[in-house]
Amino acid sequence: KQAVDGIASYQSGQDESHFREMTIIQQLPAALQHNQLSICYQPKVSLETQSCHAAEALIRWHHPELGFIPPDEFIALAEHSGHIHLITNWMLDRVIAQAAEWASHRPLRLAINLSPFDLTDTSLPRRIEQLLLHYQVPANAIGLEVTEGAVMQDPTRVIAILQQLSDLGIELAIDDFGTGHSSLAYLKQLPVHEVKIDRAFIRDIEHNAKDALIVKAATELAHGLQFKVTAEGLENQAGLRCLQQFGCDTVQGYYFSKPLSADLFIEWLGAFPQQHEKFQVMES
Ligand code: C2E
Ligand code: MG
Ligand code: MG
Ligand code: MG
Repeated sequence: KQAVDGIASYQSGQDESHFREMTIIQQLPAALQHNQLSICYQPKVSLETQSCHAAEALIRWHHPELGFIPPDEFIALAEHSGHIHLITNWMLDRVIAQAAEWASHRPLRLAINLSPFDLTDTSLPRRIEQLLLHYQVPANAIGLEVTEGAVMQDPTRVIAILQQLSDLGIELAIDDFGTGHSSLAYLKQLPVHEVKIDRAFIRDIEHNAKDALIVKAATELAHGLQFKVTAEGLENQAGLRCLQQFGCDTVQGYYFSKPLSADLFIEWLGAFPQQHEKFQVMES
């Protein structure tokens, strides 16, 4: 009897998650059109200048019935259902428009995440170029983040597209560095400016000697290949001390700020230069 109940509840749980998936897939296009989705900006802080001139744009979906749907969930579904280009196009348009608005106040580079599927679309560089022209945004006000897996799918084709994006003057970053299937042979060929070391290595960096060693070695390797290094997911001061010692260039994480709405991000930027205590670990 117990086993039968177990199977029944397992199946109804499966039905529920299947229903949720179908809802998400079916409603995504209309949700984008009706502005149910929004964008948060997470500051990227330079350790050298102790200032902030960049942020990562992260998509948010607050669904009227399902509540907050994490991007990892709906992006994976959009990739499988073929809707990912709708998200990418929406993000490119909104973030480049935002960059145009902010450019008149202060120099900021806004980074957009691309899906591996975007990097098989040979029209992408041209479309981004047109958006930059349309909104009168200089290419260096935009960054694009791609994962290692995106490159490994079809290296020759993807590297050609990345090269075109780089030639436009857009800064490219390898996201989640260290977690994908990467090959050092491809890494050296990539027209990329930055690697972002995945949060998995940063999370316990102050306690875990292996993580610290990996981050130190990855930073040296990346610097040797002329890439800038960003650490993702820094949450505390002890971790910051490690990253400073290893010569990491830029840091992103809850320690400085969670992703913020556009208005709150501008507010945060205004207050940030006064937050010297955040950096005071080296002098202590
Ligand atoms: P990602 O590009 O690696 O983005 C960093 C993620 O780490 C974000 O999660 C951010 O909120 C989170 N994070 C940053 N600092 C900390 C920290 O100190 N602690 C913790 N626990 N988390 C931190 P988020 O916004 O949930 O996004 C998850 C992933 O979804 C992103 O990972 C990216 O792969 C994808 N994503 C988000 N927005 C977009 C988008 O517009 N397009 C595409 N294609 N993917 C997106
Ligand atoms: Mg990213
Ligand atoms: Mg990442
Ligand atoms: Mg990620």
